[in-house]
Amino acid sequence: MITQELKDQLVSIVGTRFYLDSNNERYAYSYDATPLYQSMPDAVIVPGTTEEVAQILKLANEYRIPIIPRGSGTNLAGGTVPVEGGIVLHLSRFNQIYEIDRENFTATLGPGVVTSELHQAVEAQGLFYPPDPGSMHISTMGGNMAQCAGGMRGLKYGVTKDYIMGLEYVLPSGEILRCGGKNVKDVAGYDMTRLMVGSEGTLGIITEMTVKLLPLPETKRTLIAYYSNLLDAARTVEKTITSKIIPATMEFMDQATMRVVDDFVKLGLPLEMKSMLLIEQDGTEQEVDRDIEQIAEIARAQGAKIVEVAQTPQEGERLMVARRSALAALSRLRPTTILEDATVPRSKLAEIVEEIERIADKYQLQMCTFGHAGDGNLHPTCMTDERDTEEIKRVEQAFEEIFLAAIRMGGTITGEHGVGMAKMDYLGLKVGEAGLDLMKRLKAAFDPNGIMNPGKMFANSDRRRVVVKQ
Ligand SMILES: Cc1cc2nc3c(=O)[nH]c(=O)nc-3n(C[C@H](O)[C@H](O)[C@H](O)COP(=O)(O)OP(=O)(O)OC[C@H]3O[C@@H](n4cnc5c(N)ncnc54)[C@H](O)[C@@H]3O)c2cc1C
Repeated sequence: MITQELKDQLVSIVGTRFYLDSNNERYAYSYDATPLYQSMPDAVIVPGTTEEVAQILKLANEYRIPIIPRGSGTNLAGGTVPVEGGIVLHLSRFNQIYEIDRENFTATLGPGVVTSELHQAVEAQGLFYPPDPGSMHISTMGGNMAQCAGGMRGLKYGVTKDYIMGLEYVLPSGEILRCGGKNVKDVAGYDMTRLMVGSEGTLGIITEMTVKLLPLPETKRTLIAYYSNLLDAARTVEKTITSKIIPATMEFMDQATMRVVDDFVKLGLPLEMKSMLLIEQDGTEQEVDRDIEQIAEIARAQGAKIVEVAQTPQEGERLMVARRSALAALSRLRPTTILEDATVPRSKLAEIVEEIERIADKYQLQMCTFGHAGDGNLHPTCMTDERDTEEIKRVEQAFEEIFLAAIRMGGTITGEHGVGMAKMDYLGLKVGEAGLDLMKRLKAAFDPNGIMNPGKMFANSDRRRVVVKQ
């Protein structure tokens, strides 16, 4: 609870304008993009400088008040839900790009910069920041960093962890630290930069980041292939990569997703097909033409019924936008849309898609699957209704079976969405008891009083996927 005395001290740090605690304001920060989870914070604070963050954290630590860092709240793991109350620390004022360094190929920026704004700023200078989560027009770089966000270009270019070179962060004690920087080779002692990436706001607050940039590829082209079954699409993915072609993007949609997306964006997709792959390659004109031709041949050889190459970059972009709209399109079907993030080795793609279909049938649920096929990172998505408690129970059982199947196939419970609350009960399955114990000890070293984003990542009961809406 925030006493009047503590409130006065916090207000003296940021001013009344940036201390929000009316019912409406608190309600607006009681949930994020994850369905089923909601809990009221005591206050929302919007700091403007690192020094302010340090002072707030120091006070919160002294008074044992939870701190929940928040970018745009688009995470899908319940990561910014204030499940134990406390202060939501909204980093939206850290929204400046301080420098684009054309000699070192880096950008230094605040964590509140929106991902696609960074894309545009660096592309205007012929540079390229590849990670592109589907939420890139809303999500912040700080949120991406804390979740280790991926996106459609992960196959060729990797994910957020591959681009974070340096960080400034604040510990609950109020200490301000720096790790990494502009040096390509820069690990002295433990790699604190990598440790902070994916830490989901449980260790400290990121107040500045330096990211790696690449030269902007000269051109890109898009190919689309439709299949009468799932296996042929999966084989195309495998065969393309074993032929030593690494496309920038290899996205998969099953028939159910195709139907919904087509209804939403009116592309005229051949809806009798069982699955489709959306493949993009970038590079020089010559490389792109050669690769797209070879991929088209591979797709046909693996049984694709229709193979089309987008004639213009605009047509290619239209297809990519359609894929990015998959979650929005699916959420029109029923009141609650639950999307998961099971990931398997590429060679198990067809197997996991079939397994998801089997599990959806078993629990009589409406489930669609789409995702980053090249990474083996699928998003089985269940359209349901949170008011129907009996059905939600079946949804939870079905997702548990999907997680177990992914682990059995050598995969993981989350490819890019993080653990948060949604998957904390399953973390032990992935990292084992000893792994969990070490992580908890690391957390205690950073945050001995447990104020940083409590109730996330580590399960505190045996109940699975507990619904905490209140
Ligand atoms: C339509 C849609 C599509 C999506 N597509 C993708 C996708 O393709 N790939 C993908 O990886 N994800 C995707 N996501 C998930 C989500 O967008 C990402 O997780 C994103 O990186 C979150 O950014 P955010 O600014 O919204 O962060 P938030 O949701 O606000 O926060 C995410 C986590 O980061 C912590 N945090 C935020 N800022 C800081 C900070 N400065 N310091 C410390 N911790 C901090 C929070 O406490 C929380 O744990 C999608 C989500 C939606 C709704």
